[in-house]
This record gives sequence, structure tokens and C-alpha cells, in this order.
Amino acid sequence: MNLVLFGPPGSGKGTQAARLKERFALEHVSTGDLLRAAVVEGTGLGRKVQDILASGELVSDDVVLELIREAVAKTEANPSLRGWMLDGFPRTMGQAQALGGLLREQGGRIDAVVVLEVDRKAVIERLSARRTCVECRAVYNLTGNPPRQEGKCDRCGGNVIQRSDDEPATISNRLDVYEAQTRPILEYYESDRVPIHRVDGGRRVDEVTSAIEDALR
Ligand code: AMP
Repeated sequence: MNLVLFGPPGSGKGTQAARLKERFALEHVSTGDLLRAAVVEGTGLGRKVQDILASGELVSDDVVLELIREAVAKTEANPSLRGWMLDGFPRTMGQAQALGGLLREQGGRIDAVVVLEVDRKAVIERLSARRTCVECRAVYNLTGNPPRQEGKCDRCGGNVIQRSDDEPATISNRLDVYEAQTRPILEYYESDRVPIHRVDGGRRVDEVTSAIEDALR
């Protein structure tokens, strides 16, 4: 089963993906995580995209497409996986069309798009309070789910920091980019008759997971 997790920044795509990947044996492909890992490792790609990530703008389509090509090939080569789950991709119409082309070449398809619906005000509150472990990428929330020891990850002891693009000025830009460039992709999938499941992402994490599982059953 191949899925696209869709929704604005802060709608809980990463949190839900971490749960769904075990449940459905899927490779979780987050272009944001892959780009941040490249920044932390200081690779050529990382140096190229660092400032773009910090600004909340999008990196170029060809850069993320290469990451997706590699991730999809890796999934195909792993017999214990039943498919992939894209998180944060596609984000532009160009990316959606290029993914369509890649899948046609390989005889693959998107089985469903899951849309996490959360309103702008709630997303701004969530992102402002979000903190992330630099080592294992565990996600915390200062109001609802803080680390037990301030600044330290419960899971691995790594440093828990605020992502540079979770600072207030950048959050609003990221949401504007989502509305202008990403949301229109849903119409493209609607016209392509890909099943689209809209889920209220404003509820408790467990409730959202159950709603997604029900929708996919
Ligand atoms: P995310 O963790 O998905 O919110 O992504 C963090 C940042 O990485 C975004 O604000 C973009 O700068 C970049 N990024 C992630 N995925 C994409 C994509 N599909 N296309 C372009 N830029 C991306």
C-alpha cells in the first residue's frame, strides 16, 4: 500500500507516520527529515538547502525528487515492506506530476491520500510549542508533552531544541507556502480519482491514528 500523508506543517504528519509505519509495514519517507539530516551531516546537499529550510521556503523540485526516487527504490528492494508513506511530499504541482511520471514508469500507484485537517490558529500554537530532538528526531510539545528533563530527550538523551523553522516569523510563511503551492495538489488527485480520506487532525493523537486506520481499512 502506498500512501501520501497530506496536511499543513504542524498537522501531525510526522507523529502519525511514526505510528502507521509499524501498523502497515510501510517505509516512512519524510523529505523534511531527509533534508534536515543532510544539514546536520554537513553534506553538499545540506549546505545548499540550509538557508532555504530556515526561511520556510521550498527547496527546488529536482532536489526533493532525487530523494524520493532513492527512497522509493529502497522500499521496492526491501521485501519486508508493503509500500511507502510520503510525508511532506509532494508539495508543489510539479512534484505531484513528477511523482505520477515516476510511478507510471514503475507500474506503481498511490493507493490513498490521507489529509490531516487542522485550522491555522491551532497549527501556529502547536508549532510554536514544538521541540525536536536533534539526535533521534523525537517530537515534544512544551504545553502537552514536554521532555521530563528540560532540553534533554527522554528516549536518547540528545539535545531537544526548537527547529529554526518553528520560530514565529517562519511559521506564518510556511503556512502561506502551504496554502499557495501545496493545497491545490488535492484537486489534482481528486481529478485523478485517487481515494482521499480527510481526517480531523485536531483531536488527541490516538484518536487521529484510529480515524486514519478506520479510513484505510
Ligand atoms: P517539513 O519537515 O516537512 O515541514 O519540511 C521542512 C522544510 O524542508 C520545508 O519548510 C522545506 O523548506 C523543506 N522541504 C521538505 N519537503 C519539501 C518538498 N517536498 N519540497 C520542497 N521543500 C521541502
